[in-house]
Amino acid sequence: MSDSGAHLLEGKPIADEIRTAVAEDVATFTATHGRPPGLAVVIVGRDAPSTVYLEQILRGCARVGIHAEFVHLEGEATERSVCATLAKLNADPSVDGVIVQMPLPPTIRLREVIDAIDPAKDIDGIHPLNAGLLRLGYDGFLPATAHAAVEILRRSGIEIAGRDAVVIGRSAVVGMPAAFLLVKEDATVTVCHSRTRDLADHVRRADIVIVAAGRPGLVTGAMLKPGAVVVDVGINLVDGHIVGDVDFASAVGVASAITPVPGGVGPLTNALLLTHLIRAAERQAAARRMAAEPSTQVEPTVTARGDR
Ligand code: NAP
Repeated sequence: MSDSGAHLLEGKPIADEIRTAVAEDVATFTATHGRPPGLAVVIVGRDAPSTVYLEQILRGCARVGIHAEFVHLEGEATERSVCATLAKLNADPSVDGVIVQMPLPPTIRLREVIDAIDPAKDIDGIHPLNAGLLRLGYDGFLPATAHAAVEILRRSGIEIAGRDAVVIGRSAVVGMPAAFLLVKEDATVTVCHSRTRDLADHVRRADIVIVAAGRPGLVTGAMLKPGAVVVDVGINLVDGHIVGDVDFASAVGVASAITPVPGGVGPLTNALLLTHLIRAAERQAAARRMAAEPSTQVEPTVTARGDR
């Protein structure tokens, strides 16, 4: 609970719980398969952006026994060299998950690279197959940040079904997947973006507000419905400090629950990525087992047209 009354939705205790469970799953996987689950993080080009976030992921992996490593493509990496690297990682049975650091150099087309990732190893849910599965409400890999934004609500016991939610931001990696996840949880969802005419009007009607715009101070307490639940996904560096997209000082007095920045969605994102990795490892191991035992394959059932 904050001093002003809003319940603080902190990511770290939930992330710790998740990591403990992942560590057990990793130990079981390692004992069964004689190797730990493996993650490869592809870093492209000489001028690659800061790796601070990725180093956190590597440390998180080490803590639970996952083998993780950076694959650096030094110098003037080309689209062809990135795709060739991904093809090698796709074929490597000791690599269960692949992340490509974004943004890519401007000379490399994002779509080509995304398409080159094996969807079974796409643990951050950026491949169109996984995006499509989410859109249809099926079980694929979710983009970890969007997953964290909704999971923090679920794990904090916030009711989602039937409530009015506003998502600010429509990116393929955060805003849209968060919106689809909320729909899957039976919320009524409005997606706002930079061309939304009256953002405050939409926010004022929302029981749940997820903000992922990358604009510090975009949402203030005056815009919120009293008692609204606010999830701030934004990460912005202002005067040497990390702040979110929500003006925390004014929002905390109006909201019933709010995520801090830092310490809210961020820690949960990293922990959920580990759960995606162990799931990828288990699924691929099961698929390999099935492939090695053709006798276990089930003959397709022929269905007469009228039976459908
Ligand atoms: P992005 O690709 O830049 O998308 C930003 C979205 O916000 C766009 O849809 C944009 O609208 C919308 N937007 C921008 N200004 C707006 C305004 N004034 N009013 C309403 N909507 C506005 O960013 P992203 O990758 O989704 O990331 C969003 C934020 O989350 C960033 O701060 C990023 O650093 C943070 N992030 C956090 C984590 C984490 O683990 N916590 C992970 C990844 C990203 P248009 O579509 O119209 O341009």
